[in-house]
Amino acid sequence: MDLNLNGKLALVSGSTAGIGHAIARTLAQEGARVIVNGRSEASVDEVVTQLAKETGATVLGFAGDLSQAAAAEEVVKRHPGIEILVNNLGIFEPKPFEDIPDEDWRRFFEVNVLSGVRLSRLVLPAMKRANWGRIIFIASESAVQIPPEMVHYGMSKTAQIAVARGLAESVAGTGITVNSVLPGPTKSRGVGDFVEQLASASDKSFEQVEAEFFEHVRPTSLIKRFATPQETANLVAYVASPLASATTGAALRVDGGVVKSAF
Ligand code: NAD
Repeated sequence: MDLNLNGKLALVSGSTAGIGHAIARTLAQEGARVIVNGRSEASVDEVVTQLAKETGATVLGFAGDLSQAAAAEEVVKRHPGIEILVNNLGIFEPKPFEDIPDEDWRRFFEVNVLSGVRLSRLVLPAMKRANWGRIIFIASESAVQIPPEMVHYGMSKTAQIAVARGLAESVAGTGITVNSVLPGPTKSRGVGDFVEQLASASDKSFEQVEAEFFEHVRPTSLIKRFATPQETANLVAYVASPLASATTGAALRVDGGVVKSAF
């Protein structure tokens, strides 16, 4: 299937690793001009070179912390006319509710929610002028099934879904779509490292920890394994494409069936 993404300008926040990296690579494979983002010049340069070589596409880079206003303004100034925005960057940290200070609640809101709100606000005028655009928030199944071990993370992911729906409403009748995509437990760099740490601390293999995780922590998973970043990227590439023109205001799951609901 040709996704008709050829030449489209796409920004994927936090795309030097994990799910964001898989999304950037997939969009580039489909011919989009992708702006790769990470916080250090070195990591961005490395991924830009790697993806350009691998895909033959035009791959651009922006090094900067896109949870900060100045960096968000700068990337849009440098690359006006962003047609596809994927708000991917995000943080997670298990912490008992009583130990989460105000500062962490603010940080999770600023990094996971406000970063995407701000970038959306900045790219929207050009999308409106072109009467075409795609904004995708990478939320999580944790938006629906709030994890008791990180309520602040769950809050931030539910908020992303609310923002995506509200923004979709605000651009009703245009060629701009806004959606959220909800991955389930995914073996990205962040989660992979976390599971490796748990495994080595308890003298178990990755596979043992994975099996236990799906038995005790996420027993509702229907695939009984971590998803791959590519599995999320496949859905995001479709939603980012002109083919998905009737998909808007939706929370789309790629969660391995973890959310125990058919819709
Ligand atoms: P990851 O930690 O593996 O990779 C995130 C990337 O973003 C890294 O390259 C990191 O350097 C970069 N990054 C982080 N903060 C940044 C910032 N402020 N500015 C620029 N770059 C930044 O993460 P991941 O697991 O791939 O998660 C990506 C998104 O998917 C997050 O929003 C996360 O909440 C969501 N998600 C992940 C899972 C999972 O199981 N991995 C499940 C559901 C949702």
